[in-house]
Amino acid sequence: MKRAKSVPSGIVSASLDTRSQAQAKETGLPSVKEGRLRTYEPGDNVQRFLDLLGRRITRSLAVSMTACVHCGLCAESCHYFLARPDDPTMTPVWKADQIRKIFKKHIDWTGRVAPWWVNAASLRDDEDLNRLKNIVFGSCSACRRCTYNCPMGVDTGLLVRFTRGLLTELGIVPEGVFNVSRDQWETGNQMAVTEQDYLETLEWMRDEVRTELGTASVDIPVDKPDCEVLYTINPREIKFDPRSIAHAAKVFHAAGESWTLPKWGWDQTNFGLFSGDDKLGAYIARNVYEAAERLRAKRIVISECGHGYRSTRWEGYNWADYDQKLPTESVVVTLKRYLKEGRIAVDPARNPEAVTFHDSCNIARSGDLVEEPREVLRRVCPDFREMFPNRSENFCCTGGGGLLSMAEYRPLRLEVARIKADQLRATGAKLVCTMCHNCVDGLNDVIKHYKLPMRVVQVLELVSKALVVPGRDETKKTAR
Ligand code: SF4
Ligand code: SF4
Repeated sequence: MKRAKSVPSGIVSASLDTRSQAQAKETGLPSVKEGRLRTYEPGDNVQRFLDLLGRRITRSLAVSMTACVHCGLCAESCHYFLARPDDPTMTPVWKADQIRKIFKKHIDWTGRVAPWWVNAASLRDDEDLNRLKNIVFGSCSACRRCTYNCPMGVDTGLLVRFTRGLLTELGIVPEGVFNVSRDQWETGNQMAVTEQDYLETLEWMRDEVRTELGTASVDIPVDKPDCEVLYTINPREIKFDPRSIAHAAKVFHAAGESWTLPKWGWDQTNFGLFSGDDKLGAYIARNVYEAAERLRAKRIVISECGHGYRSTRWEGYNWADYDQKLPTESVVVTLKRYLKEGRIAVDPARNPEAVTFHDSCNIARSGDLVEEPREVLRRVCPDFREMFPNRSENFCCTGGGGLLSMAEYRPLRLEVARIKADQLRATGAKLVCTMCHNCVDGLNDVIKHYKLPMRVVQVLELVSKALVVPGRDETKKTAR
């Protein structure tokens, strides 16, 4: 049997143990003994796929496999279909049917009794698997907007993630998914940031904030025990946007917070959510939870990241089978509390431009966090305007589901981004604010491709800009 295209033999065979037991002993940090990808010998992908499908199906997945009545009501929820209304392969129901028909043929009894009636179809060869890969990775951002619009409760986003997970186990994944997964297994963070780069960037930002506020009392502590807050971040902040760490440090300083970042377990993002790999999801989530335990922190605060929030706050406990008892919240919730309790003061006049807010799918739809960012933004921006639709009905930034890492699907992603571009343009705002680093990149692509006269900002940036720090020398340059 032929292997699927673009699938290197034994793609998930890398044995990755960059932090050895000896190093772990030396540093006192946990080793990455779990940080290994599974090894497979070349074999029958179809049979392995079917074995996994049968073993991993759960009750909630079985409902989504069987409850669809093909009413088509979900079609217009999907930005892919809205942008390509003449193409039925862009509808959520068609995409989900590609796994559903395999389930019905090989697993569910209905497909064995009356395959023509339930639209069951065999999974024949690696070409079929490759086609399935392009559907679930390439034509769906797993945004779950269709899920909210299905009267039968079918969760197409969940089915897509499940199918991705089966393919990931076989190594039938886009190259970008493989690379990012490997980096996160190998280094504990999805951008392969070294410990040295991490620590040096934090020191650099600490010095920036000290200069800005004119005081040496500002700190960005690392591995400080017994703090109120363990702050966890997205590696993108170290690599591409360290200003966001400076903004957080400034706010924590103004609020008089006792806080620290961990030396290990600082990456709250989790590519396991996108690839469907629950083992990776467990490993990364556990890193964060164990860091909080090791440092005896009282609360985990997650920087502005949609899938990081969903993974660390909601999904990670189950993946890791971890009894995590600490309160865990987005930094936007922390900001709201500081404002409410009067721990920070702000001057909204410092943000005069019109601002709209983009709800991240993983925060609004899958994380149920919708009013907090609005409450904060209304305090720091005099001209806040909603985009429509919004909250749990908002459209994806188009870069969700890990799509930003999959270059081969970029043309389709940008084509269907027309829906997002129209939505952004209609607000007339100069700034689009989002509490997700992934959405920052997704929206930037939309803005650039459709030449929109706006720029992307985040909540911390606007709060930091509006922050009134007692005794601060206002003539000093603002860190941004
Ligand atoms: S709305 Fe639900 S039941 Fe109707 S076609 Fe879509 S997934 Fe199936
Ligand atoms: S999850 Fe989002 S992108 Fe995927 S089919 Fe549903 S609406 Fe479309």
